[in-house]
Amino acid sequence: MKLYYDFHIHTCLSPCGDDDMTPNNIVNMSLLKGLDAIAITDHNHAGNVLSCMEAAKGTDLLVIGGMEVETSEEIHMIVLFEDLQKLYKLEKFIHSNLPPIKNKIDIFGEQILMDSDDNVVGKEERFLVTACSIDIFTLYDYVTREGGVIFPAHADKKSYSIISNLGSVPPELKLSAIEVKYPESAREYRDKYCVLTNSDAHYLWDISEPLHYIDIKNKTVFDVLAKLQQK
Ligand SMILES: [Zn+2]
Ligand SMILES: [Zn+2]
Repeated sequence: MKLYYDFHIHTCLSPCGDDDMTPNNIVNMSLLKGLDAIAITDHNHAGNVLSCMEAAKGTDLLVIGGMEVETSEEIHMIVLFEDLQKLYKLEKFIHSNLPPIKNKIDIFGEQILMDSDDNVVGKEERFLVTACSIDIFTLYDYVTREGGVIFPAHADKKSYSIISNLGSVPPELKLSAIEVKYPESAREYRDKYCVLTNSDAHYLWDISEPLHYIDIKNKTVFDVLAKLQQK
């Protein structure tokens, strides 16, 4: 089947994410747009993943748990896990390697944790949009060992990307998927990788139209991750 996706969406937990990026708003907008699957990928945090999954219960939308990790090289990497416990374990690892900087709400915005009914259940005080002290190679080894998927976010962007910060994809990273921001970059990577175009949505209206799809057998998280791990 063709699975129309958007595997890079921020919630109101990301300070740069709009406060309207609540679990139910994201799920409903994704359904309105006609998407089959989305991934929740806040900066260095997975605290709103479960609420988004629960908000999608009883609908046809597949919600995958993830995180946009900023490595010590200031490279943004998307990580996805089928097993939420593994995602939370990674989150712990990231948090123990994040600088203890407090969020400045007036400059960056709030970092809101919500339940599946869009009630505020907490606010993350530590500033999330900053580099952790884990390098890209350590992160890659960790995620692949734990059975997760890892791919560079907005690889063709001029900042916070693997290409802008390292010049190229290091051969020791056996990546199978890559995200591009500009569709015209896709050609460059198509021979080597499963090229993804996601929205990196911070506002509801940014969420992708049903334009990009992957071909999979069954609409399950397992099949999606297997497709993205195919070399
Ligand atoms: Zn990013
Ligand atoms: Zn992002």
